[in-house]
Amino acid sequence: MSKLLDGIQRRQIDGEERLATRGEPVYGEPTEDGWRAWDPHRSKLGAMFELGMDHGLEGGETVLYLGAASGTTVSHVADFAGPTYAVEFAPRPARALLSAAESRPRLFPLLKDARKPDTYAHVVESGVDAIVQDVATRGQARVALENRRFLAEDGRLLLAIKARSEDVTRDPEAVFADARDELTTGDDGYEILETQRLDDYHTDHLAIVARPK
Ligand code: SAM
Repeated sequence: MSKLLDGIQRRQIDGEERLATRGEPVYGEPTEDGWRAWDPHRSKLGAMFELGMDHGLEGGETVLYLGAASGTTVSHVADFAGPTYAVEFAPRPARALLSAAESRPRLFPLLKDARKPDTYAHVVESGVDAIVQDVATRGQARVALENRRFLAEDGRLLLAIKARSEDVTRDPEAVFADARDELTTGDDGYEILETQRLDDYHTDHLAIVARPK
């Protein structure tokens, strides 16, 4: 069993070595000895860990998670991180997110629009250690730029870009190039540290690790 962080390990669960965090199950994932399997096919961040990307997380950090949906991934994050603010604007998945938060005192669901950071600026402390973003909607780079204000100088952006959410008709590589340009243009943008396609787990998705310029 190789150890990734204190709170994320590779564990034998159901006879297979799997990425896992410690916490109550949320989406029917298999568990063993208090550890719950983290399925990289259902989580872009899980896929980033599985692919060995240099995410810069050590555990215990403050996280702003944009696009929390029903809590599949953010529940794993809250298992190993510190205060985890989970932004989701659709009421239906947000109800399941509230259930995932019941057993996780560090998980704070926010029924907010990630394009309007002013609406949660009074709740989310500035200087968060990481922004994890998976909104799968048009304008993904813009959302990351608008939320940069919350990120510590040495913080990390862990971003998944879904090509088809920007434009179903364009070549994904062209969409990714535009997103990279948008993220890195200007002094209040990001410096990209690493990118990887996630196609083994998520078709036409690009993962980006970046830090504020
Ligand atoms: N990250 C989730 C996970 O792995 O468990 C899956 C996220 S799903 C691909 C994208 C989610 O982002 C949807 O639930 C959608 O409602 C949400 N979303 C899209 N645009 C948003 C916005 N502007 N503000 C907040 N949530 C948004």
